[in-house]
Amino acid sequence: MDMIRIGQIKDKCRPGAVSVTIGGNDSRKEQTIDLHRERSGCCDRLFFLCPSCGKKSVVLYLSGKGWTCRTCCPVSPYEGVQNKTKGGADEIGYRMKRYAIKKGIRFEHPFSYTAFALDDRISLEAFRKDLKVLQALENMRTQAIFFGRRYTAAQIRQVTRGKHPLLERCTLHDLLSVLYDWKSGEPLSMDTAAVRAALLKTMNRGRQ
Ligand SMILES: [Zn+2]
Repeated sequence: MDMIRIGQIKDKCRPGAVSVTIGGNDSRKEQTIDLHRERSGCCDRLFFLCPSCGKKSVVLYLSGKGWTCRTCCPVSPYEGVQNKTKGGADEIGYRMKRYAIKKGIRFEHPFSYTAFALDDRISLEAFRKDLKVLQALENMRTQAIFFGRRYTAAQIRQVTRGKHPLLERCTLHDLLSVLYDWKSGEPLSMDTAAVRAALLKTMNRGRQ
């Protein structure tokens, strides 16, 4: 489920702005949200006003009702994950979305770093590292989808924290074009027709 934190829009708001349009590139998600300011010490604290109930909130969730606070959201933002296989494709997909929101990156599955070639931030090392984490998770997700592979919470965490040795060893292109065994750190054997087919499928979908 898409969510947005007030911290993500703070710097994009004009001083004194009373509303903000969120949703960005995707017009289906676009909505103008009223803002609320509270004096706190020397500076203003900024809140969204939930379009449904009017209460202030620092996070909004996107559902069939549009952007709302958690209380007004008809489905629990976490439900999607709890009901899915642990460590499978859905959970990894969800972790990717959470990670991307936190880092201010917008993407559609399957993730491909090549979509960011013209992004102003591509020259920043920290940004390329974030792309690497997402490309690594997409690598794992592909294997979960095509081979039913499951990952432990610790394995996923090692990647989202940027601590997995493969993140150091592999280039972005490696992570897009080679499937790795995230336990042994070795590339999966390309002799397997299934591996080739899975890769081709994700790479082609990434190009669309
Ligand atoms: Zn509400």
